[in-house]
Formats: sequence, structure tokens, C-alpha cells
Amino acid sequence: MQAQSTVQKPVKRVPIREDLFTTPLDDLKQVRLKGSRCRDCGEVFMGKAITCAHCSGENMEEIVLSNRGTLWTYTLIQYQPPGEYKGPVNPFVPFAEGLVELPDGIRIVAPIKECSLDAVKIGMPLELVIHEFFQDEDGNQVVAFYFKPASV
Ligand SMILES: [Zn+2]
Repeated sequence: MQAQSTVQKPVKRVPIREDLFTTPLDDLKQVRLKGSRCRDCGEVFMGKAITCAHCSGENMEEIVLSNRGTLWTYTLIQYQPPGEYKGPVNPFVPFAEGLVELPDGIRIVAPIKECSLDAVKIGMPLELVIHEFFQDEDGNQVVAFYFKPASV
């Protein structure tokens, strides 16, 4: 028998990808996606970019991406993806995976949630949601993001 620790560890939030979110992660409503912009050619990337994949320049600046966008295109995921899928299983819940166009000049891949699959439409206004997606092996809450229909 293993001794049970009686000390309750506070649940720690960790980002699903290290360079993706503004910090702190305490108030998820305040968290935004981070990006990088090339000062030479203007190309925008998600997360941290050391060099520009467009012009190979190294003159990058960190930016905070908009939390609003529009749905550029999407696909419906009807079956559980292979690998370590972290969403609901048994039963698997189908969802839309969107390509979301942000006003910053970038399109990013993100799940579209809080919306019935029939209601997902190209061009629909969307807003960012930062959420606790799943708990990892260390008991941390892994923070991820999706988009939902924008409130007016
Ligand atoms: Zn560039």
C-alpha cells in the first residue's frame, strides 16, 4: 500500500503548447493567443517564430492575436481521431475543425464548439474560448483553445 498524501496540491494550469498563450493563466477570460509578425514582410505566424517562414528574415516581433475571427472553411470530424485524442470518447462527440481567419492576417486551425454541427457555416463570426481541456498525468489542467459563435 502506498501512503496517501494528505496535502492537497493546488491544481496547476499548463498550456497545451508553451508559446501559445499570454500569461498568467489564472483568469482564462483574459488569456489571448500569441503570435509572431515579421517586421520585414509582415507575415504573421501562430506562437513563437524565430525566423520568418515566408522571407527567412529574423526580424520578428511578438504580437497578441485577435480573439475574434471568421470561419474560412471547416471539416466535420465524425470519427475519433487516431493517436492520443484528448476530447470526449465513449461516446466520441463529433465536432467541426475550422480554419479561422483572424484580422491579424493569419488563418489558424481550431475546433468550433458550442455550436450544433448543422449551424456551422463558412463566414460565421467566431470568438476565442480558452479552456481547461484535460488533466495530464501530473494532475495539471492542460489549457487549450477553441472558437465558438461570436456573441453580438
Ligand atoms: Zn518575413
